[in-house]
Amino acid sequence: MTPSLTTITTTDPMANTVEGRLQQLQPLIDEDDDVTTTGSAPGDGISRTDSWTLLDVPPTWSCCMGARACPGKAYNPTPIEHVANTLSHGVGIFVSLFYFNAMLAASHRSLQFYIALVYGACTTLLFLMSTVYHYYEMLYRDAKLRPTLRYYLHITDRTAIYLFIAASYTPWLTLRHCGLLGLNAKWVTWAAALGGMAYQWSFHERFKRVELVIYIVVATSPALAIVTMNDWTGLDRMAMGGVIYLVGVVFFKLDGVVPFAHAIWHLHVLAAAALHSHTVLTTLLGPDANNPVPLVD
Ligand SMILES: [Zn+2]
Repeated sequence: MTPSLTTITTTDPMANTVEGRLQQLQPLIDEDDDVTTTGSAPGDGISRTDSWTLLDVPPTWSCCMGARACPGKAYNPTPIEHVANTLSHGVGIFVSLFYFNAMLAASHRSLQFYIALVYGACTTLLFLMSTVYHYYEMLYRDAKLRPTLRYYLHITDRTAIYLFIAASYTPWLTLRHCGLLGLNAKWVTWAAALGGMAYQWSFHERFKRVELVIYIVVATSPALAIVTMNDWTGLDRMAMGGVIYLVGVVFFKLDGVVPFAHAIWHLHVLAAAALHSHTVLTTLLGPDANNPVPLVD
């Protein structure tokens, strides 16, 4: 059967209230969605009229994969996909805690200890917030309960990604000797991450392209500092982790096409984060004749 196009236009009198805005956002907030919406943040008092086109495709539900989402709509995972999404990053909490503890124990100087503290805390927070969000999705999404909590959990999940990216670069740009470019890149990265977090809390889901640019700046700008680094040991494994992230992004886009696509994306994040953590632990912490830590304590 040839899919037919249906255009739906709504004018919601509740749109200029917090409750009305949350009702509008609820179907658009995915687990890590990239759904485009022209709406605005809750409570901004802006009346809106939505118009979107739905591709009327018959649902092909199974236990392992739901129907592919129509344009402008979020993918709705099956119950077992919700479980897989939650468990796949729930495991990450324990993995990150394992490396967190190992890094603190391996720290040789106070600077290494504080860097390990920032890295371990932000990595653990990433998996913790993702797990909490997906656990909430598993319990309440289908029942459409507690939309306000869901809205803020989604923002917090996104905020944790910015912290994770900035924290991932910090050990390399602090414990390796870098030139001015490397030293400045660290602070530019954190400033961009803070800007991204401020954006999330102010304009969540409002300007998707701006959000994408911020993510790209935060994730790529520190890599420029590599050229100023005195020792490239371990950077090959960091690059391998980056490739794993990129492969995972392919699955991130395949909800409704590949069963458990989002959980597979989660496993790529888990594998890359574990590889990065292991590399930081084994190459940056402890006594290192090639990279003597500056005397700051
Ligand atoms: Zn997720």
